[in-house]
Amino acid sequence: MFKGILIEKDDAGYRAELKEIDEAVLYDGDVTIRVAYSTLNYKDGLAITGKGPVVRRFPMIPGIDLVGTVEHSDSADYKVGETVVHTGWGVGEVHPGGLAEKARLKSEWLVPLPEAFTPRQAMAIGTAGFTAMLCVMALERHGVTSSDGEVLVTGAAGGVGGVAVSILAKLGYTVVGVSGRPEESDYIKSLGASEVLDRSDFTSPAKPIAKERWAGAIDVVGSHTLANVCSMMKYRGVVASCGLAGGMDFPATVAPFILRGVTLAGIDSVMCPRPERLEAWRRLARDLDASKLEMLSSEIGLSEAIPVAADLLEGKVRGRVLVDISR
Ligand code: NDP
Repeated sequence: MFKGILIEKDDAGYRAELKEIDEAVLYDGDVTIRVAYSTLNYKDGLAITGKGPVVRRFPMIPGIDLVGTVEHSDSADYKVGETVVHTGWGVGEVHPGGLAEKARLKSEWLVPLPEAFTPRQAMAIGTAGFTAMLCVMALERHGVTSSDGEVLVTGAAGGVGGVAVSILAKLGYTVVGVSGRPEESDYIKSLGASEVLDRSDFTSPAKPIAKERWAGAIDVVGSHTLANVCSMMKYRGVVASCGLAGGMDFPATVAPFILRGVTLAGIDSVMCPRPERLEAWRRLARDLDASKLEMLSSEIGLSEAIPVAADLLEGKVRGRVLVDISR
């Protein structure tokens, strides 16, 4: 038995509880891990509260991220005692995840803890930080450079947004954040944004084309926000779209794409192929300041994860939330 959060769905309804879990709940995998830290991402909030159809097998341990020590390994790639990091691959959705003392995963999903990071720092990054890096890499791949003009980041007080602002600022881009929390403006500026715009400027239905402003953009919100961002892109600007915090719809026209040559780059971290995964972790080691990472992360114990998951969905949580599994 081991301690963890278990999501169950049956005649009594959908519920997440902190409890003693039987090892039989774990699925097949060639590496068993003693989990040290997990995190709370938007998706974990949806899973724990049941507000989104994230969990597709029951019972399920949520937690799409984890870092921990290998306790048992049938893989030639990982030895007992080694520290490993996991993000994505449907863990916490269709395969039991990181918000528990123990996890059993497939070795091909894991990456060794990058030398540049402590286990705690790797989780302060987690899926959200990893996704922010993938977004920045997509802007670069499509040719956006720091001399092209301002880069916009929506949801800047959240996890993906905060890491994206920090990385872009370190790379020399002029970053403008968007936030619905004016009280977090100073925090977003301290991560490197030169300006913070109000979320309400982006939530009305978008015109097909608006005044050109952004050379690049990273959007975590979707819906009208993404449509407005696309309409404001400069000629040949690039938008990396990774999130749906404001809605899954995309009420836009093709005008920005066919009149301004705008590129909409889709970002998925879950099934990201291993070479790009390793490259993103290498880039995070180089392009994300440890001091910024500390500034944008807070820590809770496993016993607090259920209520904080609900707060996260209500937009009350700032930056990244680390979960210490031992308390
Ligand atoms: P967070 O909750 O940490 O951040 C989301 C931020 O979005 C909030 O802090 C808030 O920022 C803003 N926001 C929330 N609700 C709304 C709304 N209704 N309208 C406009 N803005 C809103 O979540 P994460 O950073 O973990 O994830 C962000 C998004 O990215 C999620 O949709 C998540 O599912 C997605 N995601 C996708 C991944 C992928 O692989 N494609 C991987 C990781 C995340 P503020 O208060 O500053 O306005």
